Amino acid sequence: MAAAALRGRQWRESHAFGRAVRLLQRLEEQCEDLRLASSPPSLRDLLPRTAQLLREVAHARRAGGGGGPEGPGGAEDFLVVYLANLEAKTRQVAALLPPRGRKTANDELFREGSRLRRQLAKLTLIFSHMCTELGALFPGGKYCGNTYQLTKVLAHTFWREQCGARCVLPWAEFEVLLCICHPMEPGSTALALRSTIDLTCSGHVSIFEFDIFTRLFQPWPTLLKNWQLLAVNHPGYMALLTYDEVQARLQTYRDKPGSYIFRPSCTHPGQWAIGFVSSGGSILQTIPLNKPLFQALLEGQKEGFYLYPDGKNHNPDLTELCQMEPHQRIHVSEEQLQLYWAMDSTFELCKICAESNKDVKVEPCGHLLCSRCLATWQHSDSQTCPFCRCKIKGQEAVSIYQFQASAPAEDSEDSSDKEAEEEELERVTPSTPPLPPRLDLPPKSPRSKCQLKVAPLALPRLRAPLAFPRFWTEPSASLEITSSPKAREGARGNS
Ligand SMILES: [Zn+2]
Ligand SMILES: [Zn+2]
Repeated sequence: MAAAALRGRQWRESHAFGRAVRLLQRLEEQCEDLRLASSPPSLRDLLPRTAQLLREVAHARRAGGGGGPEGPGGAEDFLVVYLANLEAKTRQVAALLPPRGRKTANDELFREGSRLRRQLAKLTLIFSHMCTELGALFPGGKYCGNTYQLTKVLAHTFWREQCGARCVLPWAEFEVLLCICHPMEPGSTALALRSTIDLTCSGHVSIFEFDIFTRLFQPWPTLLKNWQLLAVNHPGYMALLTYDEVQARLQTYRDKPGSYIFRPSCTHPGQWAIGFVSSGGSILQTIPLNKPLFQALLEGQKEGFYLYPDGKNHNPDLTELCQMEPHQRIHVSEEQLQLYWAMDSTFELCKICAESNKDVKVEPCGHLLCSRCLATWQHSDSQTCPFCRCKIKGQEAVSIYQFQASAPAEDSEDSSDKEAEEEELERVTPSTPPLPPRLDLPPKSPRSKCQLKVAPLALPRLRAPLAFPRFWTEPSASLEITSSPKAREGARGNS
């Protein structure tokens, strides 16, 4: 009986895969009009990419014989929600586009700023999020939602404590869980929050979507306050705008340098793209290096770049968010200190330059180095951790506290496990800063434990490259990652 039920489920799933791929292909044929080619996100790129990802997932599911973790909220549940949503969105786009093989007489669709064009741009953004989500939860086709690592440590701890191995759950259930930690008013606030978190508009929250949300609205302790001030109350916030739309919108304020708007980037999920009118009247867009948005906005305001949100004279005051950001404290145990003394080094010394002290933690891997080395490293062509090559998705300022009699002791079992230590090279999981009231989580998960693991062996002495390209440019749009709007302005000739 159980085997028959399993076969039935597998049959339904592979059938759903086939239908989704066919729908995407048909939609692709409707996108032949060259006027639909745009800077990212572009349906003409997204549709074949999503179809290819689906084929890979279907293939891996067949090859795995449907094995793997299939509990509630696992791969199977995710795919049911995902494929139904994909089908619905595909039909919505299909209804907007001219039928296959026919040119439309109505060119409203191609007029920037028209209602149809706006609808199409919104749906395209949803397609872009769906494509990224599928790739993130099924890298190479294989499911990883049960082990997916959220970028921000505290967000990760929250998800795994509250949602376990699940990678997706219905919004109503998620809302209750989130409230345990971040109380919110029901009603319109909750609805607005849902529309910000649920990027793919599926009525569910996936671990990927929550990762993006908690990166965008970091830091964690004031997550919903940040969201209130930066999204709900901020005139500069644009939830679903594309690169091209930002350019068009800022055109209106060309004669008002300092006008700016910001939106979640779709090509760099989890990061913000800020568009602004420069003093010379040109329109520029920049992705600030991993830092909380309020910090980027405050810095830009001080420098005179971000003054008029969406052209309005009143710029909301974000300084209160500044005072709330806690520095993560890294505690160093006596054993660690002795390990490093034995090597004629110290724990807090940055192992790349061996000059400055470590003051920043790479996320999600947790490796520590000094912020100068990290900045140099990130401006080079590499966006991966210099220690473990894991993709850098965020960073967090940390302070290193030396061992004192009262410092928390190291896990005794760790010191015997040499091999694990080598893997954990330089990585530290800090004691977590105090959580907001009402969060009453027992420190069960390994990541929330105060745990320090260091390997004294084979520390890479990487020298930061001397010559590196100053700016890292997105393939087709002149959107650049810069440390400040000033740097972006200086580079505008290049794009
Ligand atoms: Zn350094
Ligand atoms: Zn690392």
